[in-house]
Amino acid sequence: MSKANKHIPIRTCVICRQKYPKHELVRFTCPRTENELQIDPTGKSPGRGFYVCHKERCQKNISKFRGWRNKCKGVRHVQNAR
Ligand SMILES: [Zn+2]
Repeated sequence: MSKANKHIPIRTCVICRQKYPKHELVRFTCPRTENELQIDPTGKSPGRGFYVCHKERCQKNISKFRGWRNKCKGVRHVQNAR
């Protein structure tokens, strides 16, 4: 009865590729427009998202990280309307 093995979801930081318990990561969700990342402070927003750890390096690199565009492919609501 004392099995304190709670299920902890593990997620991977998209920058450093290290694995962390979900609650130690910052969740970003796919934006509705192409250029803005949205931080999801509750971790509960619907839709696709990805995770970045709290390391300063990773937090800085998230602005340069392009991979999220792929991750968010197909979620884009705004198209080039021309
Ligand atoms: Zn990281």
